[in-house]
Formats: sequence, C-alpha cells, structure tokens
Amino acid sequence: MGLLERLAQGPVLCAEGYLFELERRGYLQAGAYVPEVVLEHPELVAQMHREFVHAGSDVVEAFTYYAHREKLRLIGAEHLLEPLNREALGIAAGVARETGSLLAGDVCNTNVYVDDRSRRRAVRAMFDEQVAWAAEAGVDFVIAEKFQVGGEALLATEAIRGAGLGAVVTLAIHQDPWTREGWRPDEACRRLADAGAAVVGLNCIRGPETMLPLLRDIRAAVDTPVAALPVPYRTHPAEPTFQSLKDPVAKELPAGRPFPTALDPFTCSRYDVAAFARDALEAGVEYLGLCCGAAPHHIRAMAEAMGRRPPASRYSPDMSKHAYLGTDPSLHEANVAFAERL
Ligand SMILES: [Zn+2]
Repeated sequence: MGLLERLAQGPVLCAEGYLFELERRGYLQAGAYVPEVVLEHPELVAQMHREFVHAGSDVVEAFTYYAHREKLRLIGAEHLLEPLNREALGIAAGVARETGSLLAGDVCNTNVYVDDRSRRRAVRAMFDEQVAWAAEAGVDFVIAEKFQVGGEALLATEAIRGAGLGAVVTLAIHQDPWTREGWRPDEACRRLADAGAAVVGLNCIRGPETMLPLLRDIRAAVDTPVAALPVPYRTHPAEPTFQSLKDPVAKELPAGRPFPTALDPFTCSRYDVAAFARDALEAGVEYLGLCCGAAPHHIRAMAEAMGRRPPASRYSPDMSKHAYLGTDPSLHEANVAFAERL
C-alpha cells in the first residue's frame, strides 16, 4: 500500500530525529552533522529504525539526511556520497520489509541554495542524484525536508516528481514566521502543493507550542494532507525556535546557547508531545511526527494519542504496582505511607 492509500485510511506517523539521537549515542559528530554512522555502524541505524517502528512509526525513513554532496565535501568525503546513500536506503528497505512499514527516501536543505540560475542548477543536480538512488531502492515516497527557502523546496519537489515519486515536502520556519524569501508558510505550502507535492507542511526548528499556530492556516490553504513534525523541545513565543532558546540556569554553555548540544533541560515530556498530537489532529493534520531530539518514548506517546497500541505499548507506564506510589493491595503499607516523603 502506498502513502496516499495509507493516508486515506487515517493519519500517518513518521519518526525522524536520527541525527540528534545518534549524536547523543556517540556515533555522529555535532557540528558538521554528517551521517557517517550509516557506513561505520549500519547495525545501529537498523536498530533505530526498528525501535521507531516498535514505538508506532508507520514510516522507515532512510537516513540520508545531510548525506548530500555539500555535507560530504565539508568533511572531505565526497567519495562516500553514493555508497552512503545506497547503504542508508538498503538498511531502511530491509527494516521496512521486515516490519511491513512504508519506505521513504530523504533529501533536505543543501545549505548552498541561492536563487540564481547556476546555483539552482547545481542544487537540482544534488537532489536528482539522491532521488535517483532512492528510486532504485524502491522507496514508496521521498521526504524533502527542512527547507528555510521556499524556492529550494520547490526545486526538491520538482526533482522528486520528475522521478515519478510521491513527495512529502516540509518547510523549516525560523523566528520570523515566513520563509527566507518572505513567503508565509501557508502561501509556500500552497505553491508546493501546486507543484505536485503529495503532502506539505512543517518540520524541525519549532517545538509543539510554536509550530501549532502555523498549522491551521496551512490546513486552510491546501487540499493535500498536511504534515507537522516539530522538534520535541519546549519552545515558546519569545523563543520560538530551538536555536533561539536561552538557558539562564546553565553553568556552562560551550556554544553560548543551548542549541544544539545542551538542549536536554528543554526536552518535551511524552505527555507534551501526546498533547501536541491531539491538537494537531484536531487542526486537521494527517501526517504527524517529530524531528531532531525525538526518542522512541515520544513516538509511542504520539501513536497512543492517535488511538493506537504499537508493540511498545506493552510496556507503557502502569504505576499501580510501583512500590511506593502504587495502589496494588499487596504493596507494603509502610512503603505506601512513605510516598509523601519520597
Ligand atoms: Zn530536525
């Protein structure tokens, strides 16, 4: 079953956030953020795909985020471009087959887009090569994500549509609530939908609280399903993006700001993201997920907020048997009485 048929049956959940999670685990370097782990430890990438599916993700997204020519140039490893992409797609395809999930390719912001003819041609070629490898791997669709510039998102959409594949295209909206060329998110999403994207919306950068208000306008502006994949961090109107969060309590901030390696104190609880899932569904969002910072417990909470019980729900919290806070009649009375003093 393809993405559109799957969406016709109800909302789709897509876990992302491989870059941040593998950085936390010690297999990927913050800064350059290149997913060399795909070649160095393919088993870890496969395991993370499995953990997200176990937690309720309907989609296995090949870890080709930032596996493009510009990022590999930056670390002097352009020769790894094709092997890395093919390996990432192969790993994801294996897990998608084994779990019956949708398989998605992935292209993203190139960081070199400028609206002039030669740069547009170069960026389009970067998308074309990655999309061609995804097509060969038999993906169900391609995710094109985290675009600050609407024009670059349009180029990615054209590359994916040109290969005859479905495109889920999401924009990254920073502190100013528009794209870098000044398009409102709803206007930009309408252009992407008009260009043939199957699903349009927002991902990354903004947390649940500051992404939600933008979604209603997008929903009203397009006929396609709308996607929403915030970062699971507690952004708020004064600091609407995870890059703009400030931490006056931190004793040490190596980068002068919590982003990207000291965001831990701002992490959303599973209940925060479940509430977002409910609000987003209510706003008409049909393609839900989380981006940088996400972990499987977040995805399970979103799946459950969507009325599902993924395999990981077998271990969803049940505090009734907690030694001190529980209610089970066989618990030791003295411990239960001590609960207030814990
Ligand atoms: Zn992200």
